[in-house]
Amino acid sequence: MTPYVLVVEDEDALATLLKYNLDKEGHRVMVASDGEEALMLIDERQPDLVVLDWMLPKVSGIEVCRRLRAKAETKNLPVIMLTARGEESDRVRGLDTGADDYIVKPFSMSELAARVRAVLRRIRPGLADDRIRHGDLVIDRVAHRVKRDGKEIHLGPTEFRLLDYLMQHPGRVFSREQLLDAVWGSDVYVEARTVDVHIGRLRKALNAGSESDPIRTVRSAGYSLEAEG
Ligand code: CA
Repeated sequence: MTPYVLVVEDEDALATLLKYNLDKEGHRVMVASDGEEALMLIDERQPDLVVLDWMLPKVSGIEVCRRLRAKAETKNLPVIMLTARGEESDRVRGLDTGADDYIVKPFSMSELAARVRAVLRRIRPGLADDRIRHGDLVIDRVAHRVKRDGKEIHLGPTEFRLLDYLMQHPGRVFSREQLLDAVWGSDVYVEARTVDVHIGRLRKALNAGSESDPIRTVRSAGYSLEAEG
């Protein structure tokens, strides 16, 4: 399963940057801009991880964390707290906030990505497998690289997520709608035809130096990654 990460950050520019970079890592990302919205979204669908800013309008990050820990369903939900340098980071260090980890602003995106991976790996092994191999294809989620037969293949972010998802379920046939839900997210309106366009791009990139096509089109059903062998 693609990890679902909820980013709670009220600074638009930072929220956008976080979403962009976590998207690129192959996570599915939703953004909430205050604590109230965060709690509502978590209630609707539980994320695999929350990246939670300390200072938030309406309900503060620390209060969101406290409420999550108080409920049985979200007691163990992984939280990475974002804090500003100074008193908050001292407090977050000293206080039992219930967060699994914290990161002090300003931080680099690669540092955050590494923390996210570490928390996911610790809490749900298998969810953040770094590398999947299938036939002559290797996808490396940490390095964000794909190789076929040892040769590097360059993919756009959507094609990368598509391949990642298909490689997690080799042999299984997915309808366009299922792929839209899994790769684009159910909250996004995209036409089913868009899937065909991205599958086309993925195929073109994967098959440039090869004769065999690992992706199978199943008439009137959808797409699948050929089972190995
Ligand atoms: Ca803030």
